Amino acid sequence: MEIHRQTCQSCGSKSLRNILVREPGKNDRVFVECRDCDELVARYIISPGGYYHHKKGYESYLRSLMRTGEEQMSGKNLIKQFKNMQEECLERYAKVKAAMEEQYQDSDE
Ligand SMILES: [Zn+2]
Repeated sequence: MEIHRQTCQSCGSKSLRNILVREPGKNDRVFVECRDCDELVARYIISPGGYYHHKKGYESYLRSLMRTGEEQMSGKNLIKQFKNMQEECLERYAKVKAAMEEQYQDSDE
């Protein structure tokens, strides 16, 4: 696993802000902006069903699938899929946190 802590190319800041943009008929986009110099740092395009907002729960997940037209599964399967995705996300995040601590233990953040 490779981990990169994103940094502003203009001022070197690691203090960044994610701006989620939703437009009908388009995949959700995230613009990453530097909180210190307001420059654009990066843009991500979220794949259909790829957005997980922690603590927003199943209904939020369903809405995100409906926006992208990916809701062709039965309700039971969707709940299972959501739970698997949530579990996988939290497991992966725990690994990322551990790797972050190892990799960035000497830095200021
Ligand atoms: Zn900056």
